[in-house]
Amino acid sequence: MDVDTPAEELASALGVDKQEVKEDLESLLGYSVPLEEAKQSIRRKHGGEGGGDAAQPESVALDEIAPGQNNVTVSVRVVTVGTRTIQYQGDEQTIREGRFGDETGTISYTAWQDFGFEAGDSLVVGNAGVREWEGEPELNLGSSTSVAMAEEPVETAAEIGGDSNLIELSPGDRGRNIAVQIQEVETRTIDGRNGETEILSGVVADETARLPFTDWDPHPEIDADASCRIEDVYVREYRGSPSINVSEFSVVTPLAESVAVTDDAPQLSLANAVDSGGLFDVEVVANVLEVRDGSGLIERCPECGRAIQNDQCRVHGTVDGEDDLRIKAILDDGTATVTAIIGSELTEEIYGGDMADAKEAARDAMDKGVVAETIREELVGDSYRVRGSLSIDEYGANLTVADFAADDTDPVERAQAVLAEVDG
Ligand SMILES: [Zn+2]
Repeated sequence: MDVDTPAEELASALGVDKQEVKEDLESLLGYSVPLEEAKQSIRRKHGGEGGGDAAQPESVALDEIAPGQNNVTVSVRVVTVGTRTIQYQGDEQTIREGRFGDETGTISYTAWQDFGFEAGDSLVVGNAGVREWEGEPELNLGSSTSVAMAEEPVETAAEIGGDSNLIELSPGDRGRNIAVQIQEVETRTIDGRNGETEILSGVVADETARLPFTDWDPHPEIDADASCRIEDVYVREYRGSPSINVSEFSVVTPLAESVAVTDDAPQLSLANAVDSGGLFDVEVVANVLEVRDGSGLIERCPECGRAIQNDQCRVHGTVDGEDDLRIKAILDDGTATVTAIIGSELTEEIYGGDMADAKEAARDAMDKGVVAETIREELVGDSYRVRGSLSIDEYGANLTVADFAADDTDPVERAQAVLAEVDG
């Protein structure tokens, strides 16, 4: 058996003479002690001589960590650090959270106390717990966890520091930094943990995307049309798409130069859009496969706005329904289908008439269904360029439409683009 390699690794890990380790190893193996046990025993020997410093358990690679493991030791580079307060067992607690990286990948973590590390630090984290969070393993750093600076920098492919474009953000991200233009902002009063609280909500944009945001601790720098860098934000899911959360720990710095923003929504195939789990602003090109029941001239509950039939709201009982126009259309681009929800204004354009025209047509035919029928004839089988907000829930994927226009690209070209994306 080759003892040179394990002896060398062990000696360098322990910082002791290789020859001595090699002799010990050979002698233990000579007594038929298994290699791992022999190495453990040599570690104990040198740990004991090293002034009471217990032998370090070996670090686990991040891609080998799975929920259910416990008390793992990892050597990691701190990729991001976010700070947040949460309600925990009735108390407000400040936690640190983000991602660690090593050569094999990255993992998210929650630290229940402030260990003082920063993005870029290389650490040996001992006795960390592993739990499952959103289907992925996550490290839990608590009072029994040890955190020490690693002797060597830990290599990782992950980009250190958390600077992100909006398009890169997804729900669950923490400790991220963004440079954005505030496109819309309004003050709202909510019933918060500590009574009535003012918050800001609106839309931010950069060159890659637009996203909704909430500022839970209103920062005066967050003002309409202002450009700013916001450090330490976290991302949650709101109606199936990522939403940016600014907190008391976020640092907002005004930028002298205005941030360039996109006027275009990212254009995706329906399969990729659906896979993304929801998008605040997306453009798709697809065929209208079907105009569903509940399209055309409909009635809504005046209390809650739900679509109703025969003056019956399932929440408010018998009500005096209000007329509305809308379209629920199934879009299909060959990769997936979604339901497009088109509001009254666009529906009037597509129908070619307003509410009065629709009601007149329904009266003449003694059937409300004629309005949906006209829309069906107009839309089904044709290709459209559709922009809106995609949300995904247990009932499926819904695209709330903001822009709807006939698609002018060549069908062959479009089919090739879809095929190329599917193959890629
Ligand atoms: Zn109702």
